[in-house]
Amino acid sequence: MDCIFCKIINGEIPSNKILEDDEILAFHDVSPQAPVHALVIPKRHIPKIDEMTEADEALLGKLIHSAKKVAEKLDISDKGYRLVLNNGKEANQTVFHIHVHLMGGRHFSWPPG
Ligand code: 5GP
Ligand code: ZN
Repeated sequence: MDCIFCKIINGEIPSNKILEDDEILAFHDVSPQAPVHALVIPKRHIPKIDEMTEADEALLGKLIHSAKKVAEKLDISDKGYRLVLNNGKEANQTVFHIHVHLMGGRHFSWPPG
């Protein structure tokens, strides 16, 4: 499949991994927008939130829980962090394999631009 993140999962494209199990992979974003910028992805290829079904509920719950674990591992839990899920064109989704951005180490304004 021609998906960058599936290629990262199967090792075709290298990545700087933070956490992995049979269902989830977390790695550092190649173009960080904050001092900490990790991506947490399911190993199952789901293109976007808009295409998730009831069958994906537990897996995507685990995705959020894994982001929490990554934040602990990278020592940003106390200060706070932002989780971002972009869905579709207007949200600027560029990789169509669901991912949670875990960003921290700086202040984030609200509302986002
Ligand atoms: P999106 O805009 O779809 O929400 O986010 C995609 C993210 O994937 C971007 O932050 C981008 O920097 C990151 N990204 C794209 N290609 C690669 C890659 O090959 N390796 C890594 N580590 N990150 C990537
Ligand atoms: Zn994929």
